[in-house]
Amino acid sequence: MATIHHGGQKYELQPGESVLDGLLRNGVAAAHACKSGSCGSCMMRVLEGELPSSSQPGLKDSWKAQGYFLPCVCVPNGDLTACEVGSDARVPARVTSVDYLSADVLRVGLRCEAPFEFQAGQYLTVISQKGLARSYSIASLPDESSIELHVRLIPNGRMSGWLSKGSPLGAQVQLQGPSGECFYVPGRSEQAMLLVGTGTGLAPLYGIVREALRSGHSGDIHLVHGALRPAGLYLRAELAALAAAYPKLSYTPVVLNGEGESGVVTGSIDAVVAEKFSSLAGWRGFVCGDPGIVRSLKKKLFLAGMPMRDIYSDAFLPSA
Ligand SMILES: Cc1cc2nc3c(=O)[nH]c(=O)nc-3n(C[C@H](O)[C@H](O)[C@H](O)COP(=O)(O)OP(=O)(O)OC[C@H]3O[C@@H](n4cnc5c(N)ncnc54)[C@H](O)[C@@H]3O)c2cc1C
Repeated sequence: MATIHHGGQKYELQPGESVLDGLLRNGVAAAHACKSGSCGSCMMRVLEGELPSSSQPGLKDSWKAQGYFLPCVCVPNGDLTACEVGSDARVPARVTSVDYLSADVLRVGLRCEAPFEFQAGQYLTVISQKGLARSYSIASLPDESSIELHVRLIPNGRMSGWLSKGSPLGAQVQLQGPSGECFYVPGRSEQAMLLVGTGTGLAPLYGIVREALRSGHSGDIHLVHGALRPAGLYLRAELAALAAAYPKLSYTPVVLNGEGESGVVTGSIDAVVAEKFSSLAGWRGFVCGDPGIVRSLKKKLFLAGMPMRDIYSDAFLPSA
């Protein structure tokens, strides 16, 4: 049975138990969110002991080399001594603005207090002063003066509740990351691109589209944004203006429920995409948002001929 040494205490893991589950079972307030090795919120650093190779999914090579790992997917074979991540993996930032993009989506601005390098479309983890950690995709471009996040208000949501009602302006948070491979890679400039997002899945796509346009992408770029109802579509005017300014960019808002809105397609987004884009051989795709829809869309894109290696996605897994 493995023993975890953490914060000066010893905790026995049960057979097959992850380090995170063992710590939480013993009342340790360890930061966490998805508990499936995706969001990176729970990252820790090993000081002694051997990590199983499966405990470092998606981490940067420099972090792996320093012993960072994800305790939610770490079931060790022997004893480990682990600690919280340090300032080498986190950057302090302040909340500088919070405004509403729609009735249930906030635009949150963050000003970093140390360099934080990222690619438009990647995601980061925000850690509040109380240790609450949640991942959000970055909607801004790397050289913009603040980081922009689009945060959906979740009923009884702890992070979105704090951001909307808890006077967060000026508060310091820690940023961890960036993570994810959902970003624009220059090259193959003539390749057609399809970007599909639901809800706040628009956030990374908003950054990727603008990065591709300013990089001089010459192929067609199709952006499809889906919401349950017309009120859930946000940044419509900005996206329509962008499409008017760049003829190679098309913008299609889609709603599941609601008839009669001019310029808005009604239907389920995966069916709309499958019908409108039936031949995608040689295209590049980006899919973000609700995990079930991301899964379904990736399949549809692949069946329409898009190679799996050219499909980039981020599923917004909820906290466990
Ligand atoms: C890689 C990644 C990127 C992400 N990017 C974004 C982003 O750009 N914008 C964004 O708004 N969110 C994003 N998320 C989701 C985000 O991290 C949080 O999970 C979400 O905002 C809820 O946090 P909360 O603290 O407000 O609610 P919580 O306190 O975590 O949730 C309250 C309750 O609601 C449930 N719940 C949470 N989310 C949902 C949901 N979507 N549908 C139904 N029930 C839910 C929880 O399980 C819990 O029971 C991303 C997640 C991942 C893994």
